[in-house]
Amino acid sequence: MSARGDELAAGLDRVRERLAGACRDAGRDPAGVALTVVTKFFPASDVRLLAGLGVTEVAENRHQEAQAKREELLDLGLRWHFVGGLQSNKAAALASWADVVQSVDRAKLVAPLARGAEREGREIDVLVQVSLDPPGADQRAGADPEDLPALADAVEAAEGLRLRGLMAVAPNDGDPARAFDLLTGLHARLREQHPRAEELSAGMSGDLEAAVMAGATRVRVGSAILGSRPSVA
Ligand SMILES: *Cc1c(COP(=O)(O)O)cnc(C)c1O
Repeated sequence: MSARGDELAAGLDRVRERLAGACRDAGRDPAGVALTVVTKFFPASDVRLLAGLGVTEVAENRHQEAQAKREELLDLGLRWHFVGGLQSNKAAALASWADVVQSVDRAKLVAPLARGAEREGREIDVLVQVSLDPPGADQRAGADPEDLPALADAVEAAEGLRLRGLMAVAPNDGDPARAFDLLTGLHARLREQHPRAEELSAGMSGDLEAAVMAGATRVRVGSAILGSRPSVA
């Protein structure tokens, strides 16, 4: 295999070992934690190498970049996730390539996304993204916890969208374990109303152990596998 292939294989092994260790510590079955490899900023050739190493799900955060990569890699049959910030006038376009949209954080996105799904004649799996920042913090992406029920209902009601669960990013500062505890509670409440919203997407390169401990069913890992991303100009 190429030098890059060896690098990716080593990164993937390390992350799979970390996941196995975290599952052991949490008393969980590793089969219950899916790995989404976040390939944003990295070339399609890396995604192809990853697929050769058994990766089946990848995530991107920019529409055009993702669309181009997916087009080039159609033969791999990967499941493509979108995890980026969304503008409502761009949401419909995602349906041309995204199988899963993890970052639906306001009701305004629901109608355009559903329209895109209908146009493409497909169903899109949706995770609603919640913010774990304290109230009043510099808002990062994600719905306020109090807005989650209405947002989830809107997704559930939309033709072409399937509400599959909840997604969050831990705040930049503070203990991720505390943030993920809050998330676990929000997910339990969501599932009371929407039993099929089983997925809890949490945990990245720096905090995947804490996320597995808190019950994440899916982690999103980029740099621990691919290396540090080329910085954004
Ligand atoms: C980039 C990104 C990740 C991956 O982050 P790493 O720290 O590189 O693992 C996960 N989730 C989201 C929403 C991202 O934008």
